Amino acid sequence: MINIFLGAPGTGKGTVSYLLKKNCNYKHLSTGNIFRNITKRNTQIAKKVRDILKKGELVDDQLTFKVLLEDLEKYNLKKDNIILDGYPRNINQAEILLEYFNRHYKDLKISVINFKLPESVIIERLTNRLICPKCGKSYHKIFFELKPQKEWYCDDDGTKLIQREDDKIKSIKKRLEIYNKETKPLIKYFTNRDILINVDVNDSSEEVYKKVFEKCQN
Ligand code: ADP
Repeated sequence: MINIFLGAPGTGKGTVSYLLKKNCNYKHLSTGNIFRNITKRNTQIAKKVRDILKKGELVDDQLTFKVLLEDLEKYNLKKDNIILDGYPRNINQAEILLEYFNRHYKDLKISVINFKLPESVIIERLTNRLICPKCGKSYHKIFFELKPQKEWYCDDDGTKLIQREDDKIKSIKKRLEIYNKETKPLIKYFTNRDILINVDVNDSSEEVYKKVFEKCQN
């Protein structure tokens, strides 16, 4: 089964994915994490991706689908519970994905969870976000429930936490602008296909996790 997590940056898609992976063995595919790993390499593509991410822009659709597919094909799409976090991010990517599923996996169950959160909360969350560069887990500098146990270190693997390059206010504004222009139209696109479920995510991560888990089961 495929669960597409749709929502602006900072709405908690990664945090909920982490909990579903840890507690329920969901498979988490995040194109953002895939690209951040690519940027660590010493190649021309890595350099190109690094520049795009830093500016908060989108990587081109062809390369994005290629890297997604490399990971997706490791799983059993009919049996595994798969989360697509950050893909698709525009109508063209959605068409590419649905066309691929239609061709290779007829009758695959697909649902889209739309993470809804006011923009003011998003900006506050992103400017205070810290991530583990090794496992990708997100933390928050101030929220008690999302603070690391030891300040600046990952609870799971002890790696020193960092602020993402694109969590600076200029890139955040750009990412939100792109979300509104390119990604938001997907709400209507998936509503028209009757597979979209809205979830109000202005709540603690534990509550949001419970709400999303329930929707993923139906
Ligand atoms: P966000 O916190 O903005 O949701 P992600 O971690 O999902 O960030 O993605 C980080 C960056 O990776 C994006 O700003 C973009 O540059 C790139 N990226 C991730 N997913 C896609 C995609 N589906 N298409 C194009 N670019 C993507």
